[in-house]
Amino acid sequence: MPLIPYGRQSINNNDIDDVIEVLKSSFLTQGPKIGEFEATIANYVGSQYAIAVNSGTSALHLACLALGLGSGDRLWTSAISFVASANCGRYCGADVDFIDIDPRTLNIDTEKLADKLLNAKREKRLPKILVVVHFAGLPCDMDEIKHLADKFGFYIIEDAAHALGASYQESRIGDCKYSDLCTFSFHPIKSITSGEGGMITTQSERWAEKMRQLRSHGINKDTQTISESGEGDWYYEQTDLGYNYRITDIQAALGISQASRLEHFITQRTAIALRYDKLLVDLPLQLPPRVENRKSAWHLYVIQVEDAKIRRKVFDKLRNEGIGVQVHYIPIHLQPYYRAIGFKRDDFPVAENYYEKTISLPIFPELSEEDQDSVVRILGDALR
Ligand SMILES: *Cc1c(COP(=O)(O)O)cnc(C)c1O
Repeated sequence: MPLIPYGRQSINNNDIDDVIEVLKSSFLTQGPKIGEFEATIANYVGSQYAIAVNSGTSALHLACLALGLGSGDRLWTSAISFVASANCGRYCGADVDFIDIDPRTLNIDTEKLADKLLNAKREKRLPKILVVVHFAGLPCDMDEIKHLADKFGFYIIEDAAHALGASYQESRIGDCKYSDLCTFSFHPIKSITSGEGGMITTQSERWAEKMRQLRSHGINKDTQTISESGEGDWYYEQTDLGYNYRITDIQAALGISQASRLEHFITQRTAIALRYDKLLVDLPLQLPPRVENRKSAWHLYVIQVEDAKIRRKVFDKLRNEGIGVQVHYIPIHLQPYYRAIGFKRDDFPVAENYYEKTISLPIFPELSEEDQDSVVRILGDALR
């Protein structure tokens, strides 16, 4: 166990008290805390609807199902993300393809996206869904992506697992101003945590209803819309093949309590990032991208060293000294599962080149200045 992890939750007494309160209440699940958590996040991001689920991965799956993704359809996403951004397409039986990243932002390269869309249009192989990933918490070029979506006719899902608390121009990530649906994760290393958990935000009532039903077996209990009238109170209808993707009230209570400190967490992450920028300025490193008019949630602080050999040396040295550095991410198309589908090395060269050189340094709200100084000192030694 490393002494300083790369990411870590911040739990206070209020979090603990609120969880205990639920444990003493009548509802451990399917109670009032879930709606309250949804309203809290919808209100924060500025969306009409929010649907809480048991993970960010479930959120992505339900988002794809709401948009009707199925076999014969195509889903595209970034080559640099967690595997869940692509797997959601495979759950629905769709074909998955990737877009290379822009080395200046580490998000999808919108010029390559535009080229690939033109080709796909010619070949009548346009994607139904593009999953954009706000990598490390830095929002993608949503203006351009929305423009391409309008031109070529595909849906946009924002995988905002890194980006709760981020904003693009005047718009909070999650308000779906530039997208159809936006998904979040509340895993302990994310902006806020509910242990495990996720949420989808949208401005569409129809998709919201569909996802609410799918998260609980595809069952409808709403007497207004049920097809059989005159049945008793026990009556419900399963109209779709849904899942049990429900979050519990225990988790939702933790999420609500955490959300009250979200702005504070982002402020702390931002200060840590700024401090790294200053302390690392003289080292032979590429620091994380910053883009004007885009406020990062600073989920990750990713540096790039000169080559793979140096990365290995620096990574091992930091790990040996108790610094829990990590690598985000192995390009998804290089995973054995995706290689077996036909992807191979050199398919997305910018992503592969970035992967060879990257290291994620510790960043989380409670990282102390002393610990940050240790990271910087050991990193400096390793590079010398
Ligand atoms: C964490 C993460 C997910 C999945 O979230 P879980 O809550 O762990 O299922 C999806 N996409 C990205 C980019 C993530 O970082």
